[in-house]
Amino acid sequence: MKLTVLGAAREVTGSCYLIETTSARFLVDCGMVQGGRAAKQRNYQPFGFDPANLDFVLLTHAHIDHSGMLPKLVRDGFRGPILTTDATGDLLEVMLPDSAHIQEADAERAARGHHGTSKARQTPVAPIYTMRDAEACLRQVRPMPYDKSFAPHPDVVCAFRDAGHILGSAIIELWVTEAGETVKLVFSGDLGQPGRAILRNPTLISEADILVMESTYGDRAHRDQAATIDEMVEIINHVSPRGGNIVMPAFAVGRTQEILYHLHCLSRQNRLHDLSIYVDSPMADRATRITTRHLELFDEEAHALADWHDAGRGLPALHFTASVEESKALNQVRSGAIIISASGMCDAGRIRHHLRWNLPRPECAVLITGFQAQGTLGRRLVDGAERVRIFGEDIAVRASVHTLNGFSAHADRPALLAWAAGFSKPPAQVLVTHGEAAAAQSFAQALRTDLGWSVVVPELGATLDWPPAASGKTDQ
Ligand SMILES: [Zn+2]
Repeated sequence: MKLTVLGAAREVTGSCYLIETTSARFLVDCGMVQGGRAAKQRNYQPFGFDPANLDFVLLTHAHIDHSGMLPKLVRDGFRGPILTTDATGDLLEVMLPDSAHIQEADAERAARGHHGTSKARQTPVAPIYTMRDAEACLRQVRPMPYDKSFAPHPDVVCAFRDAGHILGSAIIELWVTEAGETVKLVFSGDLGQPGRAILRNPTLISEADILVMESTYGDRAHRDQAATIDEMVEIINHVSPRGGNIVMPAFAVGRTQEILYHLHCLSRQNRLHDLSIYVDSPMADRATRITTRHLELFDEEAHALADWHDAGRGLPALHFTASVEESKALNQVRSGAIIISASGMCDAGRIRHHLRWNLPRPECAVLITGFQAQGTLGRRLVDGAERVRIFGEDIAVRASVHTLNGFSAHADRPALLAWAAGFSKPPAQVLVTHGEAAAAQSFAQALRTDLGWSVVVPELGATLDWPPAASGKTDQ
């Protein structure tokens, strides 16, 4: 058996692993590379294998950096099943068409640029894939339950376990048989922080010959979530009497549902009162509906909250705005509204309208709950900009801007180490991926010193053979 790391090697996006035996060839994840322009260009390059020769794909979760290249895989000839959890299948129906729409819009903009002066930019003008490709891809998705093993191939058995990262996220356990010998692989996928809202904690796995493990926050500990929630209560209760609105940029899938959960929890506990919440993002609306359809994935606290919600007393007023007209009408609401909108980093989508209207008013507040990448409008607000440009207009920042650091969809270093400590004996081969080089190396070192594991931080394109070559060949 041969495993090739085709993405998320010393970086956090583009997750993709190719597994080949004498009888089977398949992928675990097929993600898009995200980040700057140079990084994005990699998505235009042909796959390093023939998609038509793959038997199937296993998908850990719906995030685009794990799923985003599936439509291209289908366009380039892949005809097999895409096996994933039920909830991930539902989320893909929202996320892949949205991604296709972004690819088409980017290509259109690039094409316009080429007619002008920016020939040197050399952006390919064809979209990476289209809406049609995304729709074709969705027809190949086969939902599978958690915790029930299935055999996508006579020599491969697979099981999905809770990863606690986003709705539908899975750890993949895999038994691959070749020449009468079975090797056990575990892909952690992205692991959630234990104790997070809504979802159950990541399942502990006790055995693996080969472990591929994420390390996004492998070099740091998160701020305590309880302290973050206290801070959120304080800000909301402080801003409300000022007579302004609170604007919260949030990722449509995951973070929006988490914030809604906390706002409901805090209302139930009487720590917040008479909230009027507006969710202004069609994608967040759909993702929230999908989330509430999957009660079976909720943890105990979330079930208790759902029961309280059904009783219908003391609930916050929650509005989902669908049409552009409804969204625009929100601009007339001068006070008392909590507006949750996307994009999470404020560089696209309806959130920009709400910032344009509320930023100049000192009685309003902006509450940042997610990571803000360098170069985004959200980052400029976090960094304390006094003026920002929105839709080509110069906007004064008079609203207060608050950053809440304790929400994260990823496990931090102590949580990653605790999950790794669940193995009853060291896996023979451990690959640390899905982390910037510094985070991945730091986490690999922690696994070596704390658990005595032998660990590799593979480079892009690195391969691992099983059984290992007698010479003990490793990449590093
Ligand atoms: Zn993820």
